[in-house]
Amino acid sequence: MYKLTVNFIFELKSALHSGGDIVKFGVDKAVYLDPVSGKPVIPATSFKGLIRRHVESILKAKNIRVCDAPKPDAMCSETANACIVCRFFGSPTIKSPLIFNDVEILNAYNSIKTSTTISRFRKTVLEDHLFTAQVVSGSLLKTAVTGLFNDKDDCITASALLYIGSASACGIGAGLSRGMGWINFKKYEPLIDDTPLNSEVVNNKIREVLKS
Ligand SMILES: [Zn+2]
Repeated sequence: MYKLTVNFIFELKSALHSGGDIVKFGVDKAVYLDPVSGKPVIPATSFKGLIRRHVESILKAKNIRVCDAPKPDAMCSETANACIVCRFFGSPTIKSPLIFNDVEILNAYNSIKTSTTISRFRKTVLEDHLFTAQVVSGSLLKTAVTGLFNDKDDCITASALLYIGSASACGIGAGLSRGMGWINFKKYEPLIDDTPLNSEVVNNKIREVLKS
């Protein structure tokens, strides 16, 4: 067995909140507080969903066959003939070999923004229309993805897919045109059994994946 670890660090350029910025990042669930540390984190499932969606859209743009996630009955059901996305990210019947972790927000601080709704008729603040939005600011986003594989080449393919998904999610790839430039991709570090993977090996695999 080979153990893959991919460490990620993103630089946070603007505050995250449960409204617009989170949607821009593609994360549909709000930041939540880790029950153990009490610190704000982006849930692992949100980060996985973000990376998967970006991998899918890049592969589809290259006319590479991927199934129709997230509709369960349109997704691959058997590992043997699964598309590359389901092989690495799983489907309702295929277990994902990759384990995603929550994304830590380093140097995070919270603030609560309170807004009010003004009645158009009375021009007064309606007392029961107060609502709040949590805003989280910080400096860096940090996470790691791990997995165990029988085949070393699968470790390299997983590294390539994670690079494709995270680079485009950050706006340094194809996502740039969608205005996602508010985080910077700072560190991408794939390791196999704790030994750093050569970037040329990953680059060659990215080219191979995008050609298939
Ligand atoms: Zn599939």
